[in-house]
Amino acid sequence: MDNIKYFSTRGENKAITASQAILKGIADDGGLFVPEKIPQLDIPLEKALSMSYQNLAYEVLKLFLTDYTKEELEYCIQNAYDSKFDTEEIAPVAEADGNYFLELFHGRTLAFKDMALSILPHLMITAAKKNNLDKKILILTATSGDTGKAALEGFANVENTAIAVFYPENGVSPIQRLQMTTQEGNNTYVAAVKGNFDDCQNTVKKIFMDKEITDEIDKKGYVFSSANSINIGRLLPQIVYYFYGYAQLVKKGVIKCGDKINFTVPTGNFGNILAGYYAKKMGLPVNKLICASNSNKVLFDFFQEGEYDKNRDFILTISPSMDILISSNLERLLYHLSNDCAKTSELMQSLNNKGKYTFDINTDEFAGEFTTEDETLQAINKVYKKGYTIDTHTAVAFSAYEKYVQKTGDTTPNITVSTASPFKFATDVCKAIDERYADKDPFVLLEELAVISGVEVPQQIKDINKRKVHHDKVCTIDGAVQFVLECC
Ligand SMILES: *Cc1c(COP(=O)(O)O)cnc(C)c1O
Repeated sequence: MDNIKYFSTRGENKAITASQAILKGIADDGGLFVPEKIPQLDIPLEKALSMSYQNLAYEVLKLFLTDYTKEELEYCIQNAYDSKFDTEEIAPVAEADGNYFLELFHGRTLAFKDMALSILPHLMITAAKKNNLDKKILILTATSGDTGKAALEGFANVENTAIAVFYPENGVSPIQRLQMTTQEGNNTYVAAVKGNFDDCQNTVKKIFMDKEITDEIDKKGYVFSSANSINIGRLLPQIVYYFYGYAQLVKKGVIKCGDKINFTVPTGNFGNILAGYYAKKMGLPVNKLICASNSNKVLFDFFQEGEYDKNRDFILTISPSMDILISSNLERLLYHLSNDCAKTSELMQSLNNKGKYTFDINTDEFAGEFTTEDETLQAINKVYKKGYTIDTHTAVAFSAYEKYVQKTGDTTPNITVSTASPFKFATDVCKAIDERYADKDPFVLLEELAVISGVEVPQQIKDINKRKVHHDKVCTIDGAVQFVLECC
């Protein structure tokens, strides 16, 4: 097996190992770590398709995390994908009237972030030991709602770590907020920021790059790392479920092994869909990756026109985890498509200075679509009538998929990637199903949703409004630095 090294998309760093890349989170030059090449799955696809989630995870991760031993990887995987998930399948595919949904919300926090954040703490602690790190790790996380909680759950009470989460004060759902503010654990810190998600993400990136702050936490015995999808340790575990979803379509007899399928992915930071791209490069038979945006349709415009322009209003939508104008992981795609660090660096500088750049995106591997707020609600209603309840983010994807089919006539079988439980966004889901639920208390609606969807309220959020709030801090963007220093 090849030994895979990692280097920055912006080129300045020398190659480092996978475990070092996971520890660092982001490169010194501000770039993101990428593998020097994307390895091919080295077992026959047929064989991979009959594997358990855990065994498949091993087959994928061993090819990328080449400095981890077999025992280390198996330990990480077994401790990640266990009874924390409320189904043994980990990521089941549901069917509704010939439509397929890959459910990635069976982990502790009911969103797809659990797929990677259940394993990242184990990968990171293992990396710290392998590299003889004599410092504690302070995880800095910006969240549009779901990453924060998933990272808190993943790192709570993990030895030699602390975790600080920043979320936009007015940018998350009531249930998302409570999930974070009621978090337990003696190493967890949460602050609401007076700003939007991009402000949170930029602040975290700046703190990472600030020599004075890193020196100061160094004196206290800490180093920074990231649980955001800028960390390659977030991205790689997400490749697994593209294979696993494909396998289920084969098992259901929808396709034969080797047939191509499409995936439609509700996209914000471009991490999830990029993992799909990696899966394709590894040999998974994928036709199109359909990138679905909500009204913050900066990616749709980019795929349409080749210009990425974040200079526009930031719109708060009912799919808040996709309310993003700077899709960090697009940087990795630009690098892979151009194979040019200098070019990638130049584009990111232009994004930083002018808020935009142009790039000749001459790939037919992706298609971009977007979904309005009304269309999101209509999609929930439509799928509900087919006997299945989806959340607002999944609805953005489903509607985008239907538009894509209308435009192209592409009849390739499709999997819509389902990124959150409808219970997490019960208010809007119920409203979409029946107007009479509009403006009702979100916690009453959890019970109502259980009745109308025929699915019990997940244990993970049952009675969440009765739990004790441990984190009520609100800070300005400038106040974030002080908050970070107080975490260690
Ligand atoms: C994070 C998230 C997304 C967006 O995923 P990216 O990897 O940032 O593109 C979509 N839906 C939900 C529910 C999420 O939590």
